Amino acid sequence: MGDSWHRERGKRPRVVVKLGSAVLTHPRRGLREEVIGETAEQLANLGAGRVRDVIVVSSGAIAAGRKALGLTGTLSLSRKQAAAAAGQPLLMEAWTRSLSRRGLQAAQVLLTHEDIASRSRYLAARDTFEALLEAGAVPVVNENDTVATAEIRMGDNDHLAALVALMLHADHLFLLTDTDGLFTADPHRDPTARRIPILGPADLVEDQQAGQSHRGSPGSGGMASKIRAARLAARFGIPVTVARGDRERCLEDLLAGKDLGTRVLPLSDRPPPSRQVWIATARRPVGEIRLDAGAVLALTVRGKSLLPAGVEEVRGEFRAGDLVRLRGPGGEDLGVGITGWDAVSLIEGKGTHRDRRRELVKAGLPPEVVHRDDWSPPYPGDSEEGT
Ligand code: GLU
Repeated sequence: MGDSWHRERGKRPRVVVKLGSAVLTHPRRGLREEVIGETAEQLANLGAGRVRDVIVVSSGAIAAGRKALGLTGTLSLSRKQAAAAAGQPLLMEAWTRSLSRRGLQAAQVLLTHEDIASRSRYLAARDTFEALLEAGAVPVVNENDTVATAEIRMGDNDHLAALVALMLHADHLFLLTDTDGLFTADPHRDPTARRIPILGPADLVEDQQAGQSHRGSPGSGGMASKIRAARLAARFGIPVTVARGDRERCLEDLLAGKDLGTRVLPLSDRPPPSRQVWIATARRPVGEIRLDAGAVLALTVRGKSLLPAGVEEVRGEFRAGDLVRLRGPGGEDLGVGITGWDAVSLIEGKGTHRDRRRELVKAGLPPEVVHRDDWSPPYPGDSEEGT
């Protein structure tokens, strides 16, 4: 793997390691403690040598709790949440025990979508992570499934792991699962499927065959979500490896450069400023603002904010503080921004509606629609999904 997972030569990297339910749990026996034990062993070795900080993102709460509560079949949302409530302490107990046997202190971090979407909560979570890492602890992260409702669930831990890696400026993200990486077809069903050793981020198209998750997988992830998460991290400069997590010494071998799994190369090695990354990744845009040619120039070339006079068209219903997509007069993508104006006021005060605009600003609306600090320009590989 050479230097590609070191952002700077000689610097000991910070890595995020995500283990999915497929590798951490057994359909009947619940948690596979031996995998947790083996991973903890490797993390301890890495921490003593090559790697500076390790952050674990661990699935498995729902699968462990389902077994503990004796819940079978397809579970309703509230039963899944009940299973997570019972399973999360079992999962943490296993991590705590395994890590402490190797002299490491586990620390549980449960996150919800709001903790990422709200800037102040995001920064607070980031500070907590930094304090834990500084104290030498291993954060073990999961989604707070018990309180997350269907609409606002982060959805899968692959996505969560990518967001955590971005939040902490990780040097590498490992997505560990029960297959040897990404394949040209589903290896569980097609014997001719070949492993893809290396992918450029532009190759990460979602409908690629490797994107089919295999049936019977207990997690919510599957390969499609790994591809999405890898693309997200790689787009903002973080290299990703998708590999089998229940092989002995898998992390050590991957870090030593053995040809295992699939490596996804980052799109650029100079990640954008962290506030821009947060704006572009934490939420989805709920509306769209079209700019006139002058406003495009002001924003993209002259370093100015977007003012209501430069707004030509407003689409969707949004409130102040929401994320919106910005477009030029011909529909060209100008990235996303946090709007200081709600859609109704903006329709009244945009473009040539000078007098109404004056009244609205007097009544308390900010002079800018999108302040330039609240704008994140488009990045190569931007899927325009706002993810
Ligand atoms: N948070 C879920 C759990 O711990 C896992 C979600 C996923 O597999 O992506 O069971």
